[in-house]
Amino acid sequence: MKINIFEFNPIAENTYLLYDDTKECVIIDAGCCNDSENKVLQNFITDNGLTVKHLINTHLHFDHVLGASFVCSHFGVVLEANAADKFLLEGMPAQMKMFGFPPVAAAPVIGKELNDGDVVEFGKQKLHVLHVPGHSPGHVVFYHKESDSLFTGDVLFRESIGRTDLAGGNHQQLVTGIKKKLLTLPPQTTVYPGHGPATTIGFEAENNPYL
Ligand SMILES: [Zn+2]
Repeated sequence: MKINIFEFNPIAENTYLLYDDTKECVIIDAGCCNDSENKVLQNFITDNGLTVKHLINTHLHFDHVLGASFVCSHFGVVLEANAADKFLLEGMPAQMKMFGFPPVAAAPVIGKELNDGDVVEFGKQKLHVLHVPGHSPGHVVFYHKESDSLFTGDVLFRESIGRTDLAGGNHQQLVTGIKKKLLTLPPQTTVYPGHGPATTIGFEAENNPYL
């Protein structure tokens, strides 16, 4: 499986595009926020002859959702996310105003729910959905066992964890979830976070000051 990383929008959000030799791909957290960023994503897909099978979200804070409407309308997919984060979409216009972004015409809606234990398939690949709330109530992460890859959104960063002072946040729940569900994965697992550089489960188990 190949992994392409885009850093989009003023919040420097990582959008991941995963694909294999079947040319099917998934997009995780489309954060592209304007025409030129949309074009970067679109060109990559076109240049590599890819077919978008899924748009899946770790959670629904606006910086992870800015490109969702574009991806859905251009590639004929629906936004897939956990229903416990639905309220964040409803609050998206207000949240964007708070961060100084121009207003969006309409926030996207969840077209398919992702729940703990679900498997997202594309090409020959399987992504396992793990629910790890605490940064937001509906936060999920995606685990690709075959390549030891974990897409953690805003749950786990290199030497940090997600903030828990936003709506629905819970610090204890977040720490417990990381310890139970993520630190128990093989230490060589590469962690691809929603912001900043990649790390590994083994490195975070030893060095993350919050765990
Ligand atoms: Zn977030």
